[in-house]
Amino acid sequence: MTDKFLVSVSRCSSYEADEVYNALADALGKIGGWPKANMPDELLFKTNLLAPKPPDKAVTTHPSVVSALIKLARNSGFSGKITVADSPGHLHTDKKEELLKITGMFDAVKDDGNAVATILSDAGFVTLKRPSNIILKDLTVSKRYYEAPYVVNMAKLKTHVETEITACIKNCFGIADTNTRKKAHLSTSINRLCNAIIDLYSINPPKINILDGIYAMEGNGPTHGKPRFAGLLMASENALAVDFVAAKAMGYKDPLDIPLINLAAKRGIGPSSMSDITIIGIDPDNLEIKGFAKRASSSRMLPTWLRGWAHRWVALSPHLQEVNCIRCGVCVKVCPKSAIKMNPLPEIDRRICVKCLCCHEMCPTGAMEVRENFIMKLLRM
Ligand code: SF4
Ligand code: SF4
Repeated sequence: MTDKFLVSVSRCSSYEADEVYNALADALGKIGGWPKANMPDELLFKTNLLAPKPPDKAVTTHPSVVSALIKLARNSGFSGKITVADSPGHLHTDKKEELLKITGMFDAVKDDGNAVATILSDAGFVTLKRPSNIILKDLTVSKRYYEAPYVVNMAKLKTHVETEITACIKNCFGIADTNTRKKAHLSTSINRLCNAIIDLYSINPPKINILDGIYAMEGNGPTHGKPRFAGLLMASENALAVDFVAAKAMGYKDPLDIPLINLAAKRGIGPSSMSDITIIGIDPDNLEIKGFAKRASSSRMLPTWLRGWAHRWVALSPHLQEVNCIRCGVCVKVCPKSAIKMNPLPEIDRRICVKCLCCHEMCPTGAMEVRENFIMKLLRM
């Protein structure tokens, strides 16, 4: 492939195995297929396994896409080991078997004699110093990921309550250990989190990026949104190029309005306009998923530069829906600022909450809802 920002898009109407295989073969073929030369003897498929949810909830990368990619690799002549892995939200790491079973990952690898499904933390962590990083100058990441000679990013197309969308680059946030993730969330600045995600992505950028957007998630993703048929599979060597195109598909007129895509463009790792990208396989004018529900927030009415600064006042904030709370205490454990105490239900200290929404994301019942700030409600009237 010669085009730096080449993205292929294939239509796929279901997760039926043959159809996914053909659509994925088409998408990969259009970006040059699997490289035949200089391939290492091991591939790491970095999936999105955020939580132990069944595939039809659209929280995780679908197993049909994973098994299709394993077959494609084999049919291209690759005979080495394939490891399918991710780090789930840190409270699920002790539920490895349950996670891999419920998300369908055991099924995805079962017909291949040299593919395994696991979690990234299984092989331990490595602590790195990166003085040139903007946020994470000291960081701890999965050893398996850091040392992988060839990473294939297998992301899921979803909305995200904090970063607007989660697709290929955000999928790399999962390589960090719990403390590094908490460090990324330590302030009210959305730019801090986005720059931390870019710092993590730059550790070992995936060689190929696949986006599972056959069923996407709309609304308040990445955990509590609604599955939405989108019928799209994308492939590219550049994660940000896929995310740019994905944002267009989700109805963002200018993907640079999304702080993560904007900052990545400024740091020189992604496109800075649609004209930088070559899209093949679909007419860009027919890309948009009609009526796709973005996350609940009107803060996107503000210019991107102001949104980073004004996050504290305009961001969504967590609110407990008492009737749905099972008092599990997960929100207390994930909060990077220790802003939640059980009394006996969770109580949030608003003076120290940074609105990172980790409590919302990891709440197993959806009891920690997100609400828009009254200033933004007024602006929208
Ligand atoms: S709000 Fe959610 S995470 Fe927190 S205690 Fe209740 S059910 Fe558990
Ligand atoms: S209370 Fe929730 S939103 Fe606030 S800092 Fe803690 S985890 Fe983040």
